[in-house]
Amino acid sequence: MSNMHYLLEKVYQTNHLTKEEITYLLENLTQADREILYNYAHKTKQKYYGNKVYLRGLIEFSNICKQDCLYCGIRASNVKVKRYRLTPEEILACCDQAYELGYQTFVLQSGEDLWYTDEILVDLIRKIKKRYPEAAITLSIGERRVETYQNLFTCGADRFLMRHETASKELYETLHPTMRFEERRACLNALKGIGYQVGAGFMVGLPGQRFADLAEDLRYLMELRPDMIGIGPFIPHSETPLAKEKGGTLQDTLVMVALARLLVPESLIPATTALGTLDPQGRELALKAGANVVMPIITPTSVRKQYALYENKICGDDHPEDCRYCIERRIQSAGFEVDLGRGDSQQFVACKS
Ligand code: SAM
Repeated sequence: MSNMHYLLEKVYQTNHLTKEEITYLLENLTQADREILYNYAHKTKQKYYGNKVYLRGLIEFSNICKQDCLYCGIRASNVKVKRYRLTPEEILACCDQAYELGYQTFVLQSGEDLWYTDEILVDLIRKIKKRYPEAAITLSIGERRVETYQNLFTCGADRFLMRHETASKELYETLHPTMRFEERRACLNALKGIGYQVGAGFMVGLPGQRFADLAEDLRYLMELRPDMIGIGPFIPHSETPLAKEKGGTLQDTLVMVALARLLVPESLIPATTALGTLDPQGRELALKAGANVVMPIITPTSVRKQYALYENKICGDDHPEDCRYCIERRIQSAGFEVDLGRGDSQQFVACKS
């Protein structure tokens, strides 16, 4: 057996690889190897989650951000962005619409916008939970104090998405002039300790990112064991310092999705909007390579285009109902079934029982 075939068998059978083994694999994969990898990731996903794909309604409620991440279109320094902030009443109305469309998870995402104080967020979460007690609330609002995370959890938030972005300290520090590598990790650990279902993840194709850095990302995920793993290609935005960079590819991102599935098999992995932006079939291909979640956008059409983390983001002119049914058709045509349940992670379900 060649070294490559040994590694592909090993990761499939044991869900384990060393950093050196991952790096070797990434450096030497052929197209035929990739097909084997996707097939193993698909089988592993089927074993843990069956044929189902979970839907989450994504509300991008503010594009105001105090951070200045070099890659991001809504970074504080980008003065060309028209900023918006939805009121708690508008966010509640989005949840009402999402619920009518059948969603059982509302993902509330924003830039790091401190206008939403603890009091405002606690009140909003309580109201959503009162109206829809069976639905899950996922927050993706960036770095806050541990006390805030605790308060939001106590009043009903269930999950928290915070990509680690890159597990390589040097690369992290180059890309995040206003943030600290250790702080991001401390937030993820705190969220986990509080009891949230936690989502980490990273971008593929960042400037200066090597295979060894991507191997480090996967090793970090193996250690953290998050409930959710978001992996997307970096897509350059023209109003950022990284405008002229190349960006991630579909193929490299699919390989990382498949490896994440094999190395953290019990996780929920979205087929990201960024992949759908890079290639019209990007999300379907990710579902066939081990992903099992899709997050259709339910942000009001009036502000959608202003939440431009990168350019040409798909669904900019669509309405929430368009996205809901478009996604369902896509999932079915890729050979999967839509599941509108809460879709908790296997790890979380095992801990509860
Ligand atoms: N502020 C929150 C946080 O920091 O977790 C959530 C919002 S943040 C804009 C959501 C994610 O968008 C980031 O974690 C990052 O991975 C992704 N993102 C930002 N700019 C991107 C780009 N140019 N290409 C691809 N993904 C990008």
